[in-house]
Amino acid sequence: MSGRLHGKRAFVTAAAAGIGRASALAFAREGATVIATDIDAAGLVSLAKEDGRIRTRGLDARDFDAIRAAAAEAGAVDILLNAAGFVHQGTLLECDEKAWDFSFDLNVKSVYRMLHAFLPGMIERKRGSVISIASVASSIRGVPNRAAYSATKAALIGLTKAVAADTVAHGVRVNAICPGTVETPSLQGRINQNADPVAARAGFIARQPMGRLGTAEEIANLAVYLASDEASYTTGAIHVIDGGWTM
Ligand code: NAD
Repeated sequence: MSGRLHGKRAFVTAAAAGIGRASALAFAREGATVIATDIDAAGLVSLAKEDGRIRTRGLDARDFDAIRAAAAEAGAVDILLNAAGFVHQGTLLECDEKAWDFSFDLNVKSVYRMLHAFLPGMIERKRGSVISIASVASSIRGVPNRAAYSATKAALIGLTKAVAADTVAHGVRVNAICPGTVETPSLQGRINQNADPVAARAGFIARQPMGRLGTAEEIANLAVYLASDEASYTTGAIHVIDGGWTM
């Protein structure tokens, strides 16, 4: 088998839909052994049907014990893609403490848990690529109605840089991808929550200078690059892929 990820084993969170799913499929196409995890059992079944090479496993990125067990089962993982995340819609004043804590738990602490479970093995083997999906709605750009979300994604950027600094001498690379607006089921869900979904979609498209939304496959292409040895000189970097939104 050939491919840019041949011989590597990848572990992906939130792999049943959107960017995580597209990345799991792309990793498998590039020859990696893929363990795709999610809380959506039906989504994982459809993923396994789409590519029979992908191993699937139910996993809640908020459950530390389950993550530890999954890591022990997975064996030597070379690529860890953290895609689990939730978009809280609203201003800071519209975000109660429970919603704030949930956002940080899923968007940031899940990555803390995954790193605790997978980094020691990567450091021991002196190889590994960690990729976390952050966002341009973060420390990069102020976006209305994204206060909690942007705070979590800014935290993820800080976490990425700090862990990259701690692991750079151990052969482990740690990068973040910051997408603009990407066509995914959750984006469609946010659009549908608006009184006028057609206008809401047009609004999302209007803020993208390319005049269209990104695709999950376009983000997955960058994830493949960062996962591969082609990116061997890249760590602690924040990779913006946003159709020119922040240019
Ligand atoms: P999404 O938000 O729809 O989520 C995909 C998957 O996450 C679903 O299959 C869902 O079941 C799973 N999931 C939810 N809670 C989970 C949990 N506790 N444990 C494990 N899995 C869980 O997909 P998306 O829009 O592709 O987002 C993926 C990541 O990309 C998120 O971190 C998101 O913040 C980020 N992102 C998305 C966009 C966009 O426009 N779609 C832009 C920038 C960043």
